[in-house]
Order: sequence, then structure tokens, then C-alpha cells
Amino acid sequence: MTTRYRVEYALKTHRRDQFIEWIKGLLAVPFVLYSQPHGVFEYPPSSLELGTSPPGSPNPILIKAREEAHRRYAEILHDVELMIDDHIAHQNDPDNPFPSKLKLLVPSIGPFFTRLPLEAAFKFQDRKRYISSRRFVSPSFNDVRLILNSAQLISVTSTTPGSTLQLATFDGDVTLYDDGQSLEPTSPVIPRLLDLLRKNIKIGIVTAAGYTSADRYYARLHGLLDSIATSVDLTPVQKRSVIIMGGEANYLFQFDPASEHLLSPVPRSEWLTAEMLLWDDRDITQLLDIAEAALADCIETLNLPAVLMRKDRAVGIIPSPPHIRIPRESLEETVLCVQKILELSSAGRSKKVPFCAFNGGNDVFVDIGDKSWGVTVCQRWFTDPETGRPIKGENTLHVGDQFLSAGANDFRARSVGTTAWIASPAETVELLDELGELMGKKMS
Ligand code: IMP
Ligand code: MG
Repeated sequence: MTTRYRVEYALKTHRRDQFIEWIKGLLAVPFVLYSQPHGVFEYPPSSLELGTSPPGSPNPILIKAREEAHRRYAEILHDVELMIDDHIAHQNDPDNPFPSKLKLLVPSIGPFFTRLPLEAAFKFQDRKRYISSRRFVSPSFNDVRLILNSAQLISVTSTTPGSTLQLATFDGDVTLYDDGQSLEPTSPVIPRLLDLLRKNIKIGIVTAAGYTSADRYYARLHGLLDSIATSVDLTPVQKRSVIIMGGEANYLFQFDPASEHLLSPVPRSEWLTAEMLLWDDRDITQLLDIAEAALADCIETLNLPAVLMRKDRAVGIIPSPPHIRIPRESLEETVLCVQKILELSSAGRSKKVPFCAFNGGNDVFVDIGDKSWGVTVCQRWFTDPETGRPIKGENTLHVGDQFLSAGANDFRARSVGTTAWIASPAETVELLDELGELMGKKMS
């Protein structure tokens, strides 16, 4: 799902993007006051073509406007950065009953695992995107999303003790490869992932795609798995630092050079957390039965060109015939409808088994568990043998595309680690380049 289109929802609690909208609103003020669109017409003198400058003579009005806009945007982001610091102080002080200023201004704001150096991130993105040079287009949702990503990267690679990145988890569809496609050997994301392994960073691929056997994951990820297998410079330990967490939090596979599909399944008994052990099979079945009935109703009510797909840990609707597009509004309506029915059901109210209903772009799935559990399992799988401690949230970065609107499954990972919100595999490549550069600087 791209960030370009929005749908209005009856259930406003589903808006995940308030923080970005709020920052965008703050930046709109200096844009209006300083962007000086008339500078285009006032200079050069009227004898010349509008909008063109004599060669070698930059328009001084526009230069001044850019500098002024840059200064004001940077100041605002610096102020937001301080508000986040204050919010972190509040969240870390159990004796303080009062909400932070940020919580009062943006009630949906969640926990922060690290500081966010927004001013530095803005300066970086402004050099790339010329945000302050724009006179007709104000700082956008995407500008702010990318500034937040950069701030998160700066933070997880900073020299502050304890803030180093140890685990990077990635969503599959839209993040590593295009929706419904596979990670082909030519994908530019592969050398970047190998580079993370070389730097001793653990990798988890935390995808909703739920398959019970290794061959299906090999089919989706073969480019990466083959590259790891044939790599001559990765150590055996680095190679084993790749796991696949499928079906949100239901199937775990570890890279295994000796296995036919380069992945070996890890029995649930080896990785289920204490809380997950309490998920009873009868409760799971009951929840999926209700979800299945609700999905069937939606197919009927909305006349969806779709069929049901039931799995042991999920139920969904997929397009039928396979290549037909289901309207986005119908997908979102289905997600919200099924989610509400599940929440209000006795199985849902008992809260024994968590679930995640989401719009996968051209399908809707209800999965048992969600990516907060999936990322948690990765953090525990890579527990430091010396300290016996799982990898912490501030040392984890989850990269995904689903953080917006109804039932976005990557959003759940935000409660257990830091996150970066990308909109395409190409953006993942850019993000990994930025990360590599920052880590390189740290090491040099
Ligand atoms: P993700 O972006 O890697 O989280 O993958 C989400 C996509 O995986 C969905 O949109 C579905 O097309 C596909 N998928 C396949 N099996 C499942 C399942 O069991 N649950 C959820 N999604 C599934
Ligand atoms: Mg995705």
C-alpha cells in the first residue's frame, strides 16, 4: 500500500499517522510565511524570461527565502526533538502520573526507544530533497516520514553507549520485493543485507506470509538465501544470523546451508515465549472461525471478487480470479468490519489470543499473533549468550511499509523496537545505504 492515497474512516482510532501530520502542520507555518513564491516573478528584471536567471547569477530573493525556510524548519524540528526528550523522560519515570506535553498534543503517540535527532535528520534530508528550496509545495507527509526514518537511523548508529544496532528485521512484500513477488538474485537489496551480516547485525525477515514448509519461503527469498550460501566472506556464524519469522509470529526457519531449501524449520517448543505458550488451540480455532464467517459476510455484502483461504494460523480472502483488483475501499471496509466483529466477540473480548487483521494490498488476512510478537521472537532468538539478555528495543530496527491506516501489520512492531517506514523496495535500498554510511562513519 502506498502513502499516496487516503481513505476516511468511521473509526478514527485507526489513524496511525497523527504524529507525522502534526509535524507537517508545524512546518506548514514557516512555509506559508517564508516560501516567497513571488520571488520567481520579481527577479530577474522584467526584460528577461520569467523564472530564469541570468547565467551565473543565482536569484538572491530565492536564496534568502531558502535560507530562511531552512532555518525555521530546522528550529521547529529541534523543538520537536526536545519535546520527544521530555516525553522519554516521562515514559521512563513511573512515579510521574502526568502525561508529557507531546502526549497532550498528539494523544496517539507511542513509546520511544531512542532519542530522535530530528534537526540533524532534517538537514540530511534537505540536502537530498531540497525541501527548503520549494516555493509551491510545502513539506509533505513523505518528507516528514523520511526525516523520521533518518532520525531513527542516526540514533541507532550513534556513539551513545548501548545504542548500537544489533538486529534488523524486515517485512517482505513491498519492503524487500514488490507486492506478491520474490527476492530475485538481481535485487539490489541483497548486497546491502549481506553487508549488514558482515557487520555482525542479525537479520529477521518478519512477514505475514504464512507457510508451513521451507520450500515456499525459499521460493519467495531464494535470491537472498542463495547469495548467503555462496558467499565466501561471511563466517558460518554470520550466515546463521538470518531467520525467517512467517505468518507474523507463527513459523520460524533458520538459514541452514546443509538443508535442501537452505532453511530449516525450528520447532515451536524452541522459540515460543511464555505468553505465546498460553495460546490455546481451541481459542485459536474459535477466533479463526469467527473471522472466517465475518470475511464470508463481507464477500457477500460488498460483492467482492474474492474467495476465502483458511490456514492453520490464519484466514483470509484472496482475489478470484487471481489477477483481478479488489477496490481499496472494499479491502479497508473488510478489515475494519472483521476487526470490530472479532474485538466484540467473546473470543476477542477474552484477549487470550492476539490477532492481526490487515489489508495486504489486494487481499485481507486475519493472522494469529502480530509482528510485535514476531519481532520479539527474533530478539529472543538472538539472545546474547554471555549476558543471557534478548536484544533490546533500542537495538532493534524493523523496516516495513504498513504503518498507515486500518490494520497495518508493521505498525505493531513499533511497540517492541524502533521502526523505519518505507514505501517501496527502492526506498529500502536507499535506507540501507544511509544506514551503511552512518555505520561506516561510526566505525571510522
Ligand atoms: P508481508 O508484507 O511480508 O507482511 O506479507 C503480506 C502478504 O503475504 C499478504 O498481503 C498476503 O498476500 C501474503 N500472505 C500469504 N499467506 C499469508 C498468511 O497466512 N497471512 C497473511 N498474509 C499472507
Ligand atoms: Mg509489506
